[in-house]
Amino acid sequence: MDKCSFCGRSRKDTNLLIAGVSGHICDSCIEQAHSILAEEFKKKDSFDINGVKVLKPMEIKNFLDQYVIGQDEAKKFLSVAVYNHYKRLMQPPSSEEVEIEKSNIVLVGETGTGKTLLARTIARMLHVPFTIVDATVLTEAGYVGEDIESILTRLLQAADYNVEAAEKGIVFIDEIDKIARKGDNPSITRDVSGEGVQQGLLKLLEGSIVNVPPQGGRKHPDQKMIPVNTKNILFVCGGAFDGIERKIGQRLNTRVVGYKAGEKRYELDANNLLQYIAPQDLKSFGLIPEIIGRLPVLTYLNPLNRDVLRKILTEPKNSIVKQYVKLFQMDKIELEFEEEVLDYIVDKSLEFKLGARGLRSICETIMMDFMFETPGTKTGKLKVTLAMAREKIEKANMILLQAS
Ligand code: ADP
Repeated sequence: MDKCSFCGRSRKDTNLLIAGVSGHICDSCIEQAHSILAEEFKKKDSFDINGVKVLKPMEIKNFLDQYVIGQDEAKKFLSVAVYNHYKRLMQPPSSEEVEIEKSNIVLVGETGTGKTLLARTIARMLHVPFTIVDATVLTEAGYVGEDIESILTRLLQAADYNVEAAEKGIVFIDEIDKIARKGDNPSITRDVSGEGVQQGLLKLLEGSIVNVPPQGGRKHPDQKMIPVNTKNILFVCGGAFDGIERKIGQRLNTRVVGYKAGEKRYELDANNLLQYIAPQDLKSFGLIPEIIGRLPVLTYLNPLNRDVLRKILTEPKNSIVKQYVKLFQMDKIELEFEEEVLDYIVDKSLEFKLGARGLRSICETIMMDFMFETPGTKTGKLKVTLAMAREKIEKANMILLQAS
């Protein structure tokens, strides 16, 4: 009679008995073997959270490369910070060893250069709860707007109210520059959305136990608060910091080219001062030193030039062009763009100073009529030519001109 070659149970005593070349294995032995394996893997690869392998920084960057063009510096910083975040989570709670401190991040870059995209892309590969919040809606308690705690409400929601999971999550705070202190003297007028909010935020960044309203907002005054410890929550902040180049320039004490330090002369790239950003520039901009101290990783994003915009159209895994091709494919229409059309789209986006966001709206303008007209017809192939693209854009411009 067949029996398990491992535990000796006969077929009738098992739920399942699988035959091998020269023996059998039963379901409970498979399960046991599986847990031994899992245990072994855990020992071997210490960077493993809930059975999911944590990628190394270079692997994280490779992943980001599939979706975000350029911005290598920011990608590198973000990859390391996320990786270190995982390492922190690996530390046993009462570790006698060196405690790894949290490395919250600030991403500085013009609007539309990919800060949110980076954060969203990181979220795709993370196995921890993630949320994006906008700092502009935050105000001090007691004023119209949202309380600081609402940030954690979002995270709790992203974690399906699993507090333990939320406490290991990542929060992206967009437009952090909007809570900078306005002017040097904060006491002249009440600074509802500035320094007060920064003080509130500090509490979260520092790591403390915060009482969070599970439904958020102030509309549900009776809700029972949930205590959330922010010690292990990683904060990534993004902001355009309009005009910060001037502060950087002032600090570097140069408006033109050079900076003399000892014997060496460093050539500065005056066209992109953002790459020299340092914590003191954030201070000059109006962030309080305590906040800056809690955001130790500071990096920047480059403005997007023609070359990058052109790549953004076609290269990312879910690029705009790939999305249109897919949309038409679903109607069994083979869509193609002339190369010149893609150059034209980039030119228009630059002309209108719309950045990467403009690429999408220009494409929409060109494609709208086709998307309306072609489904349901016998069209099997559509090649968008430069003449067609021009016509659509010029028509749209006429309408805009007439409207204004
Ligand atoms: P930000 O947060 O810096 O204001 P976003 O990340 O929201 O900008 O970028 C706006 C849009 O522009 C994104 O949805 C994306 O389609 C595109 N984009 C911007 N930068 C890049 C980039 N470096 N690579 C690919 N797409 C980008």
